[in-house]
Amino acid sequence: MTTPFYHCGEPTNLKTSWTEANPGIRFYGCRRYGTNGACNYFRWLDPALDEYTRNVVLNFHRRIRELEKRQNKEVSKFDRKMVSFIILGAIVFSLLWIGK
Ligand SMILES: [Zn+2]
Repeated sequence: MTTPFYHCGEPTNLKTSWTEANPGIRFYGCRRYGTNGACNYFRWLDPALDEYTRNVVLNFHRRIRELEKRQNKEVSKFDRKMVSFIILGAIVFSLLWIGK
């Protein structure tokens, strides 16, 4: 998506808020927001959510993050297994080689 506005000489950022109050709500912000001398331009793009929708979005977001965390753990477990397997293989190989 293109950013239609320029502030402080740079295109505005289109970001998504993941705060408890405004989950999944997109907003435009000056890229230099919070820095010295910046204009602090900030504008919501999406309308605010009602409480029910907000809770649904928050729950989905939480679940996705949990699943991602679990997936990352499984991947790193697999990586560790592969590394040990390779090291063990190298040790066995070198022992057999020296044994000859
Ligand atoms: Zn600015």
